[in-house]
Amino acid sequence: MEMMVVMPDTIPEAIMFVLDASRSMFRSDYSPNRLGACEIGIVEFVQTRFLSDQENAGSSAFGLVVVRSKSEKIFDFTDGAEVPEFSEFLGNLACGGKSSLGEGLGHAIKILIEDIRTNGARVPLIILFSDGNNTPSKIEPLKMAALANQLGIKIHTVHLGDIQPTNLLKQIAEKTNGQYQHAKNTEAIIRFIQNLAQNNFLPPGSSVKKNKSRIPQPILKKIAAPLLTEAEMTKGSEDQKNLIARLRGTKSYEKCSICFQSNDPISKTEFNISGAYCPNCGTPMHYSCASLWAKNQNKEGDGTIFRCVHCLYLLKIPASIKTAVQMHQNLKQEMRSENSQKLAKTVNVSVELARDLGEEATYSACPVCSAIFEEDDRVIKCGNRTCNAIYHEKCFEKLPDHQCKVCGIKMVKMF
Ligand SMILES: [Zn+2]
Ligand SMILES: [Zn+2]
Ligand SMILES: [Zn+2]
Ligand SMILES: [Zn+2]
Repeated sequence: MEMMVVMPDTIPEAIMFVLDASRSMFRSDYSPNRLGACEIGIVEFVQTRFLSDQENAGSSAFGLVVVRSKSEKIFDFTDGAEVPEFSEFLGNLACGGKSSLGEGLGHAIKILIEDIRTNGARVPLIILFSDGNNTPSKIEPLKMAALANQLGIKIHTVHLGDIQPTNLLKQIAEKTNGQYQHAKNTEAIIRFIQNLAQNNFLPPGSSVKKNKSRIPQPILKKIAAPLLTEAEMTKGSEDQKNLIARLRGTKSYEKCSICFQSNDPISKTEFNISGAYCPNCGTPMHYSCASLWAKNQNKEGDGTIFRCVHCLYLLKIPASIKTAVQMHQNLKQEMRSENSQKLAKTVNVSVELARDLGEEATYSACPVCSAIFEEDDRVIKCGNRTCNAIYHEKCFEKLPDHQCKVCGIKMVKMF
């Protein structure tokens, strides 16, 4: 028998490195200097994780934000294949200016939110390298840490240099359930980083399914983007304005891409009232169609979040619309079950001669015309055995919906 090799399950992570490259990071108390030590740490992480992903069919992605005078995005989720470019960029990076760590963290969070909206399969993570000398700015690092925590984003912090009494970096890690490391030298940074890089395996026997979203529903709900009305689209970014201009030229501009109609199937109102657009690709859809779509697409969700039918961008609809559509669905269902009850209240009837019904017919009058039956009259007897009303065939035809005038049952003429 062959040996079975079971590959450990990896958690796909979207990792944003936030690198403090302010002037104080130029100090050479680390080898080669503080910034250089962090760069070694980042390259170490990317290489270690890249190799591990190749062995274990993992799929990590890496991004980089550098904080100098202002926060700059350098890499936006390249995969491990771009390790050389990563290293090359870091090798040429110069220090300078101030460090607004809050801005850097905010920037990284924004990129991670976009990744969840467009991808959704990767767990977001931030690793912050800094000496903790934060230049106060409008965006407070601890506020960003609180935001990250709300969105389920851990921030691991690598601390170089002295520890200040407030120890901002430790607070940031603690606020987000991340790990904090005060690294006294470059080797300590590498050790910490190697641990983190090998830290994305699911515990053996873990029941998490491979394709299930690892991001909890309440967090997805916060991150999902709302649909945009046409007015909101046109006052949005230049990209969105161009998008709507392009869409206007197409015939499907006001046709829902779920029901393919212009008017809303529930309220019958026109698209400009009942419809909106995906902010990412401009696909039009009715709110109510989106709501039904959300419910079908995501059985564990509460029916307010879904992925765009066209571009899979993570979207949400207001809970009020979900409730309205739900009420409509319930009503429809009630009506349907009432109808089916009525449907059960039908009986089959057939034409007979009054004579063949015997005394029963010859001594009774037709409920429609009140005439007594003649022996040769073609008659129909109500099939409800507690009723047995008898009608002339002609009078039967005059009954609205062939409903028995006496007992109310619907009669279906067989022959
Ligand atoms: Zn629709
Ligand atoms: Zn879309
Ligand atoms: Zn009659
Ligand atoms: Zn009857």
